Amino acid sequence: MVWPKKTPAGLDASEKTSFGQGVFRKCDGCGEMMSAERLEASFEVCPDCGHHHKLMAEGWRELLLDGGVMEPWDGHLEPSDPLSFSDGKPYPERIAKSQKSAAANEAIETGKGKLDGRDVAYGAFLFRFMGGSMGSVVGEKITRLFERAAEQRLPVLLLQASGGARMQEGILSLMQMAKTVAARERLRDAGVPFISVLLNPTTGGVAASFAFLGDVNVAEPKALIGFAGPRVIETTIRQTLPEGFQRAEFLLEHGMIDQIASRLEMKALFSTLLAHLCPPHGANGR
Ligand SMILES: [Zn+2]
Repeated sequence: MVWPKKTPAGLDASEKTSFGQGVFRKCDGCGEMMSAERLEASFEVCPDCGHHHKLMAEGWRELLLDGGVMEPWDGHLEPSDPLSFSDGKPYPERIAKSQKSAAANEAIETGKGKLDGRDVAYGAFLFRFMGGSMGSVVGEKITRLFERAAEQRLPVLLLQASGGARMQEGILSLMQMAKTVAARERLRDAGVPFISVLLNPTTGGVAASFAFLGDVNVAEPKALIGFAGPRVIETTIRQTLPEGFQRAEFLLEHGMIDQIASRLEMKALFSTLLAHLCPPHGANGR
């Protein structure tokens, strides 16, 4: 079973700047107008200025996995509402709305795919699903991703784009941080590599748990990465933050990540990294 195909690489409708019939889009980096097809063909990277717009999970599959194909794991898991939470709108209503707009059960997809012929355990956050927030189901799917990868000796490639823990699930959401990190450590004990990819944005409870725990941590150019947002920090410490604070380039300069890679170079980079990290005669399909 594979995920159904829709558009090759799409953009969140809320972020789309339409003109006329929606054929033209404006680059958020340089402000140039260009055809939607041109941006889609370059996986939402502006051909003029290199600005990286958000790419949907489906686009990531197309970009990174051979044939864009992933055999899904745990797609049946659905969120519940353990706290009967309402923040003006009941949580189940928010879930239903996100499930419809993202055409997915939760804010992450996980499964098995191939990258340049090598089997990988793959996961990608769906930012359009409640800001890629991590509730019980997201935490459980990541935990199972690490556990299955350890069991089957598949290197893990996990793409994060998240606003952090999901407040509607309270402490149950926060405990996913410890649970996922414990699973990541079991993967380390098994000697199976993990490449962590930090997309824009990677913040809150996701940044503070597994996102920085890759054997190699790679970020997209200019991605916002951090725990609390700049406004919260400035108010707390009563200081003005330096220019570019919490952007990928700032983090690289300060040793928090290993590399920044353009989206279009990522597949080749991951292929090379996996060739170095995986044992030559590993039982990972090669
Ligand atoms: Zn541009």
